[in-house]
Amino acid sequence: MTAISLSGKELAASIRARVKETADALTAAGTPPKLAVVVATDDGSSLWYVRSIAKAAAKSGIECDVVDLGADTTAEEIRRTLGTLSADDTVHGIILQTPLPEGATAADLAGTIDPAKDVDGANPASLGRLAARLPAFAPATAEAVMALLDHHDVPLAGRHAVVIGRSTVVGVPAAQLLLARDATVSVCHSRTADLPGMTRQADVLVVAVGRAGMVTAGHVAPGTVVIDVGTNPAEDGGLAGDVAAEVSEVAGALTPVPGGVGPVTTALLLGHTVDAASLLSQR
Ligand code: NAP
Repeated sequence: MTAISLSGKELAASIRARVKETADALTAAGTPPKLAVVVATDDGSSLWYVRSIAKAAAKSGIECDVVDLGADTTAEEIRRTLGTLSADDTVHGIILQTPLPEGATAADLAGTIDPAKDVDGANPASLGRLAARLPAFAPATAEAVMALLDHHDVPLAGRHAVVIGRSTVVGVPAAQLLLARDATVSVCHSRTADLPGMTRQADVLVVAVGRAGMVTAGHVAPGTVVIDVGTNPAEDGGLAGDVAAEVSEVAGALTPVPGGVGPVTTALLLGHTVDAASLLSQR
C-alpha cells in the first residue's frame, strides 16, 4: 500500500489568492500591508527561508522589510528594533526569525512584539491566549498542520493525535489546536520512553523534531495519517522531512517534504499579515 500524498500546494495557492485580493483592497483603501522580518543570524537555511517569505510577500501584494541586524547584534538591539516596529503604524506584521545570537531567546524577546502584529504567534501573550482559547495569531506552522488536516477532510474529534516535539513554535501549539478540535492528544519528546509504542497508537501523527528520517515504518500503525513538519538539509541539497520514505508503505496518508506543511505555513503568515492590517486599519 502507498500512502495518499497530502499536498499543501493547492491549499497554499487558494490561501494566497485570498491574501492577494485582500492586500490589493487594503492598498487601494490607503493601507498597503507591510510585514517586517527581523533577522539576527548568518545561518544559510534561515536566510533562505527569509528570502522565500519576502518573495512570496511581493507576489501577494505585501511589502516585506527584512531588518537584518547581523549575527553579532545584542538582545537589547533586537528588543529595541521590535519595539520600534511595533510602534510603527505602517508595519502590520512582525516576525522574529530564529536562530538568535548566543544569550538571546525568542520567548524573552518576542514579548516586545505588539500582539496585534504578532503574525507568527511568538509573543508568550499570543501563546497564552491560544491556550485559553481566546482570539490570537497561532504560530503559522501549527496552524498549517490543522489547515492541511481540514483541507484533506481528516476527522479529529475523538481520534488519538500524537505529536512528536514540544517546542513552543510547533509541537505545543499544534497540540493545543488539536485539543481544541476534540482530539485526544499525546505529546512526545526526547525523554519519552518507548516512542514507537506511543506513536503506533496514533490515528494522526504530527512529527516536528528536526532529524531527517527519524520516524520509520516501525513507528507507524497501518492507516495512520502522518504530518511531517520537519525541514532538514538533504544530501542532494534539497529538503528532507523527519519521516523516512518507507513510512509511505504503512501510513494511510502522508504530507510530502517539500510541498506539504511548508507552503501552507508561508501562505498563512501572509494571511495573518493582511488580517492584522485589516484589523489595525479599523482602529
Ligand atoms: P525544536 O525546537 O528543536 O524542537 C524539537 C523537538 O523534538 C523537541 O521537543 C525535542 O524534545 C524533540 N526531539 C528531539 N529528538 C527527539 C527524539 N529522538 N525523540 C523524540 N523527540 C525528540 O524544533 P522546532 O522548531 O519545533 O522544529 C521542528 C522541525 O520542524 C524542524 O525540522 C524545523 O526545521 C521544522 N519546522 C518547519 C516549519 C515549516 O514551515 N515546515 C516551520 C518551523 C519548523 P525535547 O523538548 O525533549 O528536547
